[in-house]
Amino acid sequence: MDEPIITTVDLTKVYGRAATEVRALDGVDFAVAAGEFVAIMGPSGSGKSTLLHIIGALEPPTAGTVALAGRRYDGLGDDELTRLRRERLGFVFQFFNLLPSLSALENVLLPALIARRHGADALRGRANELLTRVGIAGRAEHTPAELSGGEQQRVSIARALLLSPQVVLADEPTGNLDSRSGAEILRLLRGLNRDEHVTVVMVTHDPSAAAIADRVVFLRDGRVCDEVEGGSTQRVIDAFTAIQAPADEPELVGVGGTAAGVGV
Ligand code: ADP
Ligand code: MG
Repeated sequence: MDEPIITTVDLTKVYGRAATEVRALDGVDFAVAAGEFVAIMGPSGSGKSTLLHIIGALEPPTAGTVALAGRRYDGLGDDELTRLRRERLGFVFQFFNLLPSLSALENVLLPALIARRHGADALRGRANELLTRVGIAGRAEHTPAELSGGEQQRVSIARALLLSPQVVLADEPTGNLDSRSGAEILRLLRGLNRDEHVTVVMVTHDPSAAAIADRVVFLRDGRVCDEVEGGSTQRVIDAFTAIQAPADEPELVGVGGTAAGVGV
């Protein structure tokens, strides 16, 4: 692997305590190379969103470390983490998270306005370019309610890219779209990964979405349990099916008093 842009070591996240404790991540070692497009798959509750949130510096781990381009988050203060989130990372969510009262163009510019960048005007050119790149230049003045789901997701992708992040983190970006718009969004993300040299980490439960990635990493019970090369939906389905099979197969054991057929 090239120099990793994201590295997690023994990443652990525990929610709650004692009887209500949930171990959402249980020792995740995960690395993403610069320029890579990685999909994360796993059953519901396997820790996918938690992993993405921690990589996104949206919440801290309970234990273990995460680093972006060699900079560990645990050494950074709140301001530095905020800056890292704003300037080096881009986020795309299932429900778009656009501000309803702003136009598409204003939504794309929002990260610059929030960051109080003096160059917000200069970034208008970049915002318009991005709206063109994601195929909705003609909708720049429309509000989210006037846009289809696919168009809203294009706006949120343009917004994520405004400040030229190193990494885009996408949590189920096609989860709220019909299959055709979803496929267009995936093509778009893949193209931007190439053209904008942005690394993409995308959570999905859809094998055909995951198959567009270079690599698919599988989580189960808060652990990385497998990974396969992308490029083939069938390969992803096979791996996903395998990791969802019960770990032990009690029906083969015990009933007749023997464990015949079970390798020891
Ligand atoms: P996924 O995205 O794979 O469906 P999540 O990362 O959202 O899984 O959740 C992993 C586990 O952690 C689940 O059991 C979930 O209920 C739990 N969890 C996630 N966020 C919280 C939270 N804020 N408080 C308590 N439990 C949580
Ligand atoms: Mg999730």
